[in-house]
Amino acid sequence: MTSDEVLAIYQKTGALLSGHFLLSSGLHSEKYLQSALVLQQPDLAMKLCAELAKPFKDMKIEVVIAPALGGVFVSHETARALGVRAIFAERVGGELTLRRGFTIKPGERVLVVEDVITTGKSTKETIEVVKKAGGVAVAAGSLVDRSGGKADLGVPYKSLVTLEVPTYTPEACPMCKAGGAPVKPGSRGLK
Ligand SMILES: [Zn+2]
Repeated sequence: MTSDEVLAIYQKTGALLSGHFLLSSGLHSEKYLQSALVLQQPDLAMKLCAELAKPFKDMKIEVVIAPALGGVFVSHETARALGVRAIFAERVGGELTLRRGFTIKPGERVLVVEDVITTGKSTKETIEVVKKAGGVAVAAGSLVDRSGGKADLGVPYKSLVTLEVPTYTPEACPMCKAGGAPVKPGSRGLK
């Protein structure tokens, strides 16, 4: 699957929007990605994650983990493709934690996944969760890399699509200069 084919899926499901958006960072951007609109289609989730799993097939992965909520279906479907179990970490008082009886055995080989990586912050936090539990964070993957390839996660990292989308401060935003006002769709769903 080429990155154009992946982007076409995002476009077709309305998950890749063009316009004038206010990101949670306060910056403005012409693109907005909502992977949930792709992942609501189980067949598409399965297809994309099977593709995401490919480069990790020979890495002896034993568990796939993602930060909730955005990454949960990506974890589940990537784990399906690898024939291993899928877990997720969730925020308790702002900190990512394993709950619900999820465990990582000491030395277990773990793949960390996400829907979209922008700065890589939550992926890095998830890698810390793995280490704290005694596991080995072998690699990381995401459907979309919005960092333009700049995110440094400290482990091998693959994505299906790399996007370099410019962001602007309100003062420097060309769309604001043209008289437009940014829209804030959703809240934390905004990547
Ligand atoms: Zn603007």
